[in-house]
Amino acid sequence: MGSHATATLQHPADTSADAIDRLRAIGREFHGRGWSLGTSSNYSVVASRDPLELIITASGLDKSALGRDDFVRVDAAGNVCDGGRGRASAETLLHCTMAALDPTVGAVLHTHSQWATLLSGLDLARGSVRIAGYEMLKGLAGITTHETAVEVPIFANTQDMTALATDVRRRFADVDLTAARPTVHGFLLSRHGLYTWGRDLAEARRHVEIFEFLFEAVARERMFGTPASAAPRSQAGHWQQQQQQQQQ
Ligand SMILES: [Zn+2]
Repeated sequence: MGSHATATLQHPADTSADAIDRLRAIGREFHGRGWSLGTSSNYSVVASRDPLELIITASGLDKSALGRDDFVRVDAAGNVCDGGRGRASAETLLHCTMAALDPTVGAVLHTHSQWATLLSGLDLARGSVRIAGYEMLKGLAGITTHETAVEVPIFANTQDMTALATDVRRRFADVDLTAARPTVHGFLLSRHGLYTWGRDLAEARRHVEIFEFLFEAVARERMFGTPASAAPRSQAGHWQQQQQQQQQ
C-alpha cells in the first residue's frame, strides 16, 4: 500500500480494504435501485468488537461513486478514531447504537427509498408498519413461513441523533435482538428511511432488499384497496383465521 492509502486508515485490519470495496459495491447497487439517491444513506461494517469500532461511509457523499478514501473508522460513540479527510455523518451514532445493542451485528445499512419514506410517514401514529402473510418475509433472518407478521417500528424523525439513539435503546431494551427468530430486523424513521442490519454485510443487504420489496407490496396493496396487512390487529387476526380455515 502506498502512503496515500495508509493516510486514510492508519491501522486497517486485513479485511478493511475488502470491506470497503464491498460497501462501495453496495452504494453503486443501492443508488441504481433508487434506495440511496443524492448523498442520502450510510453503510457500515463492524471492524472490531473489543473495543467496538465501525467502518462507515463518511458524511455527504454520492453513494454511486464511493472511493476507497470515502470511509472513516469510528468508535462506539460515533467519534472518528481513524480516517483521513472524511468526517462522520450525524447518523453514525445509530449504526453504533445497533451494533452495541446486538453483539451479533456485523453490518448496518441505512437507506432512503420512496416506499420506506411514504409508509413510515403514513404509519407513524400507529407506531409501526405491519407486514403480514407474504412469502418474502422468509428473507428476514429466522422467519420460516409466510404465515407470520412483523411490526417494523417507526420513530419520529429528528436531527437530534443523541436523543434518537436514546429512544432506540429504550424501545429495544426488552427485545432479544439475538434470538433465533428476532422480532425486530429493522426500524424506520418517519418520512426518512430504513435502518436494518445483519450478522454480516450479505445478510444486511438481503434485509434491505426484502424490506424494500415488502414496503412496496404493502403500499401498493393499500392503493389497490385490499389493505390486509394495514388492518387493525383484530381484523388482521380474522383474516389470518380465514386463511388458516381455508387451508384445512
Ligand atoms: Zn438518513
